[in-house]
Amino acid sequence: MRKIVLITGATTGIGKAIALELAKEGYDIVINYCHSRDKAMELQKKIIEDYHVNCLAIQADVSKEDEVNEMIDQIERDLGIVDVLINNAGIDLPNLFYLKTADEFRKVLDVNVVGAYNCAKRVSKHMIDKKYGRIINISSTNGINTYYPMCFDYDASKAALNSLTHNLALQFAPYINVNAIAPGFIGTENELDGYDADFLKTETEKILVQRYGKPEEVAHLVKFLISDEASYINNTIIRIDGGQTGSC
Ligand code: NAD
Repeated sequence: MRKIVLITGATTGIGKAIALELAKEGYDIVINYCHSRDKAMELQKKIIEDYHVNCLAIQADVSKEDEVNEMIDQIERDLGIVDVLINNAGIDLPNLFYLKTADEFRKVLDVNVVGAYNCAKRVSKHMIDKKYGRIINISSTNGINTYYPMCFDYDASKAALNSLTHNLALQFAPYINVNAIAPGFIGTENELDGYDADFLKTETEKILVQRYGKPEEVAHLVKFLISDEASYINNTIIRIDGGQTGSC
């Protein structure tokens, strides 16, 4: 039987690349989306036509526990128990420290940390019953180092996600492996949008391999981490950042 993977925030960028790569590998795919229904339907159609696996597209705001629970109820009714959860949904609302509001700060934490918690909480029960599960949290090198003062709340959210990764790995052992991937600069549409050539040049000069990463490169790492070959990798944060200067 094919394994079922739920990817949150899967209609764009890194999440979309993960959905396509894992469909190609033969996993059944659940695309979670918050607002972009058309993109989700388009991706679902492509995955079914190109890779001949089962694919659902389900709307849910991951920061809302009731919506997450309804989404996973639907997956279990229509497809089966989730084997692999990729907590990819994330937001970044950069702003000057004194202009940022506490509500904006809470929103970033709600999506990036509470969203991952809501999904992990609901899927882990059946994973533990089945004595099998994989959870990957898409964190960031911003959770390890500080690069941009305007991203202080995003940085805090990703540091919290790293901590949550370690805590969940302890709680769910030995049945569920929980790891985080910390990408550096990945050239997704959203990430590149609005950057001018000078800024991009300065940013890529800080990266040892002198380029930004591709979403597909993160997807390949996810594919390896959820494979049986990686079953001894647990409770770790793996950077994929081209050796960004300042990373530790
Ligand atoms: P993206 O904006 O294309 O992807 C984020 C996705 O999450 C979007 O599809 C968005 O609609 C979805 N989303 C937002 N709020 C949601 C919610 N409440 N419920 C469900 N879905 C929601 O950006 P991306 O660059 O592909 O980022 C994907 C992940 O990778 C994020 O967690 C981001 O923090 C992380 N990341 C990205 C980079 C980068 O350079 N692109 C670097 C480090 C980490």
